[in-house]
Amino acid sequence: MTNGKDRIAEAKRSSGAYGCVECGKCVAVCPMAEMYTNFSIEMSPRGIIKKTLTGNDIILDENIWYCTECNAGTDVCPQGVSCRDLIRYLKEIAIEKYAVKDIKYCTRCGKQFLSIPVKNFVFGRLKEEPPNVLNILELCPSCRREMYMLRNA
Ligand code: SF4
Ligand code: SF4
Repeated sequence: MTNGKDRIAEAKRSSGAYGCVECGKCVAVCPMAEMYTNFSIEMSPRGIIKKTLTGNDIILDENIWYCTECNAGTDVCPQGVSCRDLIRYLKEIAIEKYAVKDIKYCTRCGKQFLSIPVKNFVFGRLKEEPPNVLNILELCPSCRREMYMLRNA
């Protein structure tokens, strides 16, 4: 069984984080800048990558919970660094190591699928929608797909 430090080292390796040249292209396309009024360089993909490369306390950093896992930064990175994969791994490690509360769990299968800052943003934007739409958003993407298939079978 690997420990937290080994897992973070693996996250850095597999996401390509070591290749980051701090060009900032991922920051320019990251939607968090428009989503959150408290957006900062520490919250940005470049900031998360830098902190991950310089110390292991990134797991306790609340900034990892704002990422939408959209992959936009990965698409533009000249070095092939995946900010999405890195932050996803970091969240997984945090959930396993600590009893993290900032997580939205699927009301159907119970799996974690969304961080609370992202959920609050989405529900804030959609608050005028009818309850049936909001209820669907309580489900993880897999359960949404399954429910859709069942309904249309
Ligand atoms: S685009 Fe890639 S190389 Fe540039 S700052 Fe982001 S992760 Fe680093
Ligand atoms: S995956 Fe996360 S850090 Fe990367 S661009 Fe999307 S929201 Fe930003």
